[in-house]
Formats: sequence, C-alpha cells, structure tokens
Amino acid sequence: MKLIFSGIMIPVSTIDWYGRSASVIFFNGCNFKCLYCSNNRFIEVSNRLEPLFKGGVVVDIEEIEKHILHAKSFISAVVFSGGEPTTQYDALEHLSKFVKKQGLLVGIETNGYYPERLSRLIQQKLLDKIFLDIKAPLDDSHKYSQITGGKEDAAERVLHSLNLKGVPLEVRTTVFRSLDGVLEIAKFLADKDCTYVLQQGIPENAPDDRIRKEKPLSREELIDLASSISFLKDVRIRTKEKGEEKII
Ligand code: SF4
Repeated sequence: MKLIFSGIMIPVSTIDWYGRSASVIFFNGCNFKCLYCSNNRFIEVSNRLEPLFKGGVVVDIEEIEKHILHAKSFISAVVFSGGEPTTQYDALEHLSKFVKKQGLLVGIETNGYYPERLSRLIQQKLLDKIFLDIKAPLDDSHKYSQITGGKEDAAERVLHSLNLKGVPLEVRTTVFRSLDGVLEIAKFLADKDCTYVLQQGIPENAPDDRIRKEKPLSREELIDLASSISFLKDVRIRTKEKGEEKII
C-alpha cells in the first residue's frame, strides 16, 4: 500500500496531544483550501497525481511503519495530521491498525469533513482521540464555505463529526483578527464533554493577502477571548510564546 506523504514526521512531540508524548505524521493533501492554511506547502499544485493529492511524495506504507517503530520507545501515541488524513482513508486505517498493534494510542487531527470515515475508525476501535478543527460557527454554512475554499456542505458535515460518540474529543479553532466567531462556535460545545483550544493564528503563513497583513492576536488578547467563554468547562490557549495554557 502507498501513502502520499508530506515528507514530514515529528518523531516525538509533546504539544500535539496534551499530556502525552506522540509521533506526528503529516499526510499530504487536503480537500479544503483554507484562507489561512499554514500547511499550504502540503497542498501545493503539481501534476504528479489526481488533484486532491498534489505536491506529495508517494511512499510505501512500510516506510512510515519503520519510522513509527524507531520512535516507539519514546512515545505512547501516534497522531495523524496533514493536510487531511481522512482523504487517504485506506492508508489511515492500515496505519491505525499498525499503531494499535504496537500498543500505542491513535489520535487524528482532522477538519471533520468526513464523519463517516471517522465513524468507521471508531467502530473498529482504532481511534483514541479526535482533534477536530472548527473554523467558523456551524450554523453559518456561507462563512464556513468562504473560509474553507468553497465547500457548501462543510459546516453540516463538520457538525456530524462534532456529534460522533465513543471517543474523546478536543476542538480547536485557529484565531485571526478578521475571522471572528469564537463565541458562536463555543455555543455548539456547551453540551459536549470536550476541551476547546484557541490557537494563535500565524498571519504571515496565510495564502490570503488580507489575512497575511494582519497582526497576530497577542497572548493577552487570546486569554481575554478564552475567559469570555466561561460557560465551557475546559478552555485553553496555544501561543508561540507559552505553548498550551489552561484558562478555564
Ligand atoms: S483543513 Fe487544515 S490543512 Fe486543509 S486547507 Fe484547511 S488549514 Fe490547511
């Protein structure tokens, strides 16, 4: 089996899964085209493969397994990230089975567009944590579509992912000055047992000109924003300066 790989693996990370040491494997390719995507080098256009998977390197899946085995003594989990890992479902399922066989936990960082694929992994007990990126209020399909590059059904499908049961959930929003909506997103989390993390957006990496010219939110501004959603039980911020901090 082959994987279209970004070429990037972090053998040992302590920031992607709070409280754990995990390897992070970045799949190549994404079905969204977000205005602020800092991973846009993974979705660059080339003519190597079908449009969804442009710009990556095709590797044998055993190559990735070898990297996981090398890191195994230093980690308790593997996180699949991207790009969007669910776009290569067969490789994702195969690697998740491999990781579980090693006695490690599996996490996935996802944009939530494929709830049925996440559900298949949950049913097979191949998933231990979902890190779900929510980019705009889920009742505003127009805004969601604008941010993610034109997918009209994005908000609806992400809402399905948010409502999946049977696996712990962390929701993340990357925050930029011109893209407000954190309070509205938070309202969808009020009845969920999840962590909500506000990530400091890095405008300089954004493909969108307008966002690129913005000043990033400061740590203090993010703390204020996080404090304003005190109706949630567990709210954190993640900044360049201090990493992850629990605010509520
Ligand atoms: S979902 Fe993530 S990887 Fe895909 S375009 Fe958006 S920010 Fe980039």
